Amino acid sequence: MRNAVFNFPVPANEPVKSYLAGSPERVALENELERQKSIVLDIPLIIGGKEVRTGDTGTVVMPTDHGHILATYHKAGPKEVKMAIDAAMKAHSQWESLDWTVRASIMLKIAELVSGKYRALMNASAMLGQGKNCYQAEIDAVCELSDFLRYNAAFASKIYNIQPKSASNQINSVEYRPLEGFVFALSPFNFTSIASNLALSPVLMGNTVVWKPSTTAILSNYYLMEIYKEAGLPDGVVNFIPGSGAVIGKEVFASADFAGLHFTGSCDTFNTLWKEVGENLGRYRSYPRLVGETGGKDFIFVHPSACAEEVGNAAYCGAYEFQGQKCSAASRMYVPASLWPDVLNKMKQTAAQAKMGDVCDFGNFINAVIDEKSFDNIVSYIEYARESKDAEILIGGNYDKSKGYFVEPTLIVTTDPYFKSMKEEIFGPVLTVYVYDDDKVEETARLCDSTSPYGLTGAIWGRDRVALDALSDILKYAAGNFYINDKPTGAVVGMQPFGGSRASGTNDKAGGEFNLIRWVLPRSIKETLVPPTDFRYSYMK
Ligand code: NAD
Repeated sequence: MRNAVFNFPVPANEPVKSYLAGSPERVALENELERQKSIVLDIPLIIGGKEVRTGDTGTVVMPTDHGHILATYHKAGPKEVKMAIDAAMKAHSQWESLDWTVRASIMLKIAELVSGKYRALMNASAMLGQGKNCYQAEIDAVCELSDFLRYNAAFASKIYNIQPKSASNQINSVEYRPLEGFVFALSPFNFTSIASNLALSPVLMGNTVVWKPSTTAILSNYYLMEIYKEAGLPDGVVNFIPGSGAVIGKEVFASADFAGLHFTGSCDTFNTLWKEVGENLGRYRSYPRLVGETGGKDFIFVHPSACAEEVGNAAYCGAYEFQGQKCSAASRMYVPASLWPDVLNKMKQTAAQAKMGDVCDFGNFINAVIDEKSFDNIVSYIEYARESKDAEILIGGNYDKSKGYFVEPTLIVTTDPYFKSMKEEIFGPVLTVYVYDDDKVEETARLCDSTSPYGLTGAIWGRDRVALDALSDILKYAAGNFYINDKPTGAVVGMQPFGGSRASGTNDKAGGEFNLIRWVLPRSIKETLVPPTDFRYSYMK
């Protein structure tokens, strides 16, 4: 019997490896890329630990070479969704009654496997299947993924330690029960770490999960399921069911056992899901927990005191890394007229050096966008700008989907602060700039605050610290992750807990105790040591 009072300490973040040519990690990764490119996996559903093949299949292709099939995957229909719910419910009582440190030990073992034995496998699958270059894969599919798992063990320790006070005649405690039912994890394509965290943070707190991965991240997500099994995760705790979101969602939300949604994806999808839950509310045992991190229209706001060279570099990296497919990617920028020529010059110099192409060529900075639907959507914004009298394309603007879904990093300048691409999320390598008069800083900051419905990330730049403080006040609600003299991307677990409000989601901060607390139902327990035997108040005696 375990009787240690256990606290998992705050961990160190997983170091990002360099992948220099000839380094052991580079050689291992190159070999693994070749291996994964030379096979076509057959990816089943995994329900209650068993592989299920429905015969209704789709293909997994490389975004940088869409003729290259990496895998076929089986899609869940209504029957399999019900099976997954049953499996999650069956696994619930054993999993929730396990000592929580055993649950944490499985999570920590997953982190060790991902950052050790399976580092190359995870990186290669994210590179090939999601179109990430080596660095972008490493920071996502290995480092952030491991950080979520390790930090969450420490955050769970903190939560379980929040206990009320007792008195001489009573003992009080709070028991952190998991939700009464299953959690539905619904993940986006762009971050493997997020997909893992959406399923495993409720799991750490004792919940069981039905997980629908994104159809364009199935390769890395399937390998995760294999790693979970090797780490000792019991059957049925996470049930993996790729397929159509609408088909799966309909069955899930009709279930009386649905207890929580852990979602990351677009604002439109989250709104649809929230409505579906509302329509089914009478069916559920409890009010379901709805946690959703959604889109962004992330900004860089430049004060006239900023250094143009630093701003130009941050804008290029913040807008175009991973082809702008980060919810945090800079997609609108406000620059004072005095700095604009130098900022633009720096961005043009960088654009001339940053190469675009296949993920397996380590010299490429830019790769392909995820799929044809996304490609066509991004192109529609570029063409809209090309045809508008209020805008001009200054960098990029070309695209080609003949082999892979390639869109050049594109810089648009507009004279209209409410231009379409200043307001709407594009989710691609497109940055729109509005140049303002140097003497209209605060007025333009207020424009920045009110232009878009989102509130995810934003950055302010300048050397005048007092002016930056005033900007920070004006933009208080414009971003849940706010940066001063940095690009608005690259949040690190344990350092910048992530999430925004307004149309960007419920702001429960993935990678923090605020998120974990959403997956428990606290029960207050009072035990009286010597109960009274007389009903009278003392003054009646
Ligand atoms: P998406 O909304 O298209 O899909 C997310 C998931 O929902 C996928 O698994 C998809 O299959 C599923 N889905 C779609 N429609 C559904 C429906 N009607 N019913 C049930 N499930 C459905 O998002 P995406 O394209 O995968 O990811 C990009 C979006 O995610 C962007 O908007 C981005 O800003 C956002 N994102 C936000 C964060 C954050 O932390 N705020 C992080 C990453 C991505």
